[in-house]
Amino acid sequence: MNRVVIIVLAVAGFLWANPAEAQTSGTGKVDKLYILDCGQGHAPDESRWTVGVNVGKPIDISVSCYLIHHAQGYFLWDTGISDQVAAMPDGWLPTNNPANDIHWTRAKTLESQLAAIGIKPTDIRFIGISHTHPDHIGNIERFPSVTVLIQKIEYDNYFAPGKPGLRMPPGDNAPSFSKDHPVQLVQEDLDVFGDGSVMIVFTPGHTPGHESCLVHLPKTGWILLSGDAVHLRENWDTRRIPYFATMPADQRLQTLLSMQRMADLISFYHAQLWINHDKPQSDKLRHAPAFYE
Ligand SMILES: [Zn+2]
Repeated sequence: MNRVVIIVLAVAGFLWANPAEAQTSGTGKVDKLYILDCGQGHAPDESRWTVGVNVGKPIDISVSCYLIHHAQGYFLWDTGISDQVAAMPDGWLPTNNPANDIHWTRAKTLESQLAAIGIKPTDIRFIGISHTHPDHIGNIERFPSVTVLIQKIEYDNYFAPGKPGLRMPPGDNAPSFSKDHPVQLVQEDLDVFGDGSVMIVFTPGHTPGHESCLVHLPKTGWILLSGDAVHLRENWDTRRIPYFATMPADQRLQTLLSMQRMADLISFYHAQLWINHDKPQSDKLRHAPAFYE
């Protein structure tokens, strides 16, 4: 066998032995990810998410936003509870029913955390939102010129005629999500910068057009940002579905299939799963101004 053939076989053997490594090494175009404190929630009864389990047990949840720096610009994933809540000494209770509602507070604004790391709202190139609930879209209109990446079905559902208005804190002068806001309507998956470093992944169920985000960092590796496809680590480990009793069967199925899709991605990319509302996990992660590389 001549030397060229031996080299070709050796290279082919390496690729065959390491298919995942060959396909999932990323591009190195993302160099930083900041976790921003985007609010806190306190619920009197955890079982709203863990049906039949931990009934009546109070729970605190985290709310995070994630700022990703790519060579082509900044990408902000979710915008959290409205910054207005930081100025409300008693926090915000959307339905005024303390027995059955989430009490939201905000220790510091999104805007102030961006300023602390030298970022102006206009420095951001894209905002991606997991879904249109108030704890994820609370600050979209503080970035009026930034294109929002949102699933078409989520957008259409949010702006459908006859839908009740979104609950936002009273007095918020930059409310909800304007129909005039520049958007890029996504259908299922999207490679945001075209190089595989930040990918929006369609994970419907919690809402009709829910999406998650898969990002690659050169040192940390792959991270899957959950959105609300899962709320708590325990729910992930047990495949527990929130609101199960009141959820239509097709929505339950979508939720389960999305969790399985996430599990497959995590396995293939050797990714970490960062669960937005899981406070014990959030407490262990570094927050801005520190960052992940
Ligand atoms: Zn949420």
